Amino acid sequence: MTPPPPASPAAGANSAAERDVAHVLHPYTDHKAHRAKGPLIITGGKGVRVTDQNGREYIETVAGLWCAALGFNNERLVQAAADQMRKLPFYHAFTGRSHLPLIELAEMLVERAPVPMSKAFFANSGSEANDTALKMVWYMNNALGRPQKKKVISRIGGYHGVTIASASLTGLPVNHKLFDLPIAGILHTSRPHHYHHALPGESEEDFATRLASELEAMIVAEGPDTVAAFFAEPIMGAGGVIVPPATYFEKIQAVLRKYDVLLVADEVICGFGRTGNYWGSQTMGMQPDILTCAKALSSSYLPISAVLVNERVYEAMSEGASQIGTWGHGYTYSGHPVAAAVAVETLKIYDEMDIAAHAAEVGAVMQKRLRERVASHPLVGEVRGVGLIGAVELVEDKAEHRNFDPARKIAPRLVGIAENHGLILRALPNDSIAFSPPQIITAAEVEEMVERFGHALDDLSAQLK
Ligand code: PLP
Repeated sequence: MTPPPPASPAAGANSAAERDVAHVLHPYTDHKAHRAKGPLIITGGKGVRVTDQNGREYIETVAGLWCAALGFNNERLVQAAADQMRKLPFYHAFTGRSHLPLIELAEMLVERAPVPMSKAFFANSGSEANDTALKMVWYMNNALGRPQKKKVISRIGGYHGVTIASASLTGLPVNHKLFDLPIAGILHTSRPHHYHHALPGESEEDFATRLASELEAMIVAEGPDTVAAFFAEPIMGAGGVIVPPATYFEKIQAVLRKYDVLLVADEVICGFGRTGNYWGSQTMGMQPDILTCAKALSSSYLPISAVLVNERVYEAMSEGASQIGTWGHGYTYSGHPVAAAVAVETLKIYDEMDIAAHAAEVGAVMQKRLRERVASHPLVGEVRGVGLIGAVELVEDKAEHRNFDPARKIAPRLVGIAENHGLILRALPNDSIAFSPPQIITAAEVEEMVERFGHALDDLSAQLK
């Protein structure tokens, strides 16, 4: 075997960068490009900022992966983890075993749910939570004696994770094409993005009506007795921060109710204040039967996710258990005590700071300042978002809403430039740049973030001239 080419990243033999290139297989990374460029190694963080190994500080505009809601040095969460480690570092929840952090967290989540929910199930990631939700839907319909009602509809551009089933629910080519996905029985309906997909002159309301009709036609064509659930993020995150058009969920839910199709709200990004309400479902008027959450649930200090189910789903699942004796699903670390204790402490902090009100207030500043600073920029097609989630989409032709050729990698280029301005950005499809900073961000920090972004964008324009 030929040894791999020497790493070109800066910094000398056996540097951390070289060791990374030699040994780490990174998630979501172009491996060839990584060999040439090397990693950005983060060694610490404080508030909304992180520091690299050379001591350079960056504002984390996406809270890591839309997740470190309380920033990067919350001492209370550290303490909660340490205390629980000493009390009970591990126990599980299989076969009716339980522990106190698990009980407290389930109770807190059910109390805070956007609609009446009955029970909370725990997993370790958003992907696992969505896999679990899908299995619940299948299990429920088997238990109810309607085994044909199993198909699930999600949206093109939606993001629900990367396990086989959750990647199938995801509606992005990068997650499907080279993985032989989606699996059978998972269908995708249109992305509700007015900026790109509305007909000329079509209002948001009319666009929403058309999307709901399209969904209805799909359900009817498949056979309503074969369609079990519809999965949707309140606001699509990784697919581009797509805020649905006015009246969208109202009309979609009317169709779902008509054909007895369950609604699963994927709150993995939108949950816990991000959109200016505690749940994205409240912002978007969704009444889910099942709700999945993760990320900000523990401010991502430890991996944990949850699936909330309403009484109807729970009752059907209980029916299944009475037929075969058990709900044969669960993870070794479902409701891990240390992760659960950190999540409990996180939710307490959210209550104390009134996270939704804070996100609404500072989020309004972010939305306004982004629009003021960059909406009229020649490279910017659309600035969109609600609360503390937003995106700036770059276009080649503003009038035609036409993106750059993806091969030019314009957004990734801007991500690189922004590092020189002390900003960690995230590029999304269609050359969109995400904004989803830690929910503790202040108005002054929002100003600084937007200003730095404006300078990075100006540098990009200068390079493209
Ligand atoms: N659902 C949504 C809306 C997400 O944004 C993500 C991750 O970004 C997931 C699910 C998958 O979560 P995880 O990466 O924890 O598996």
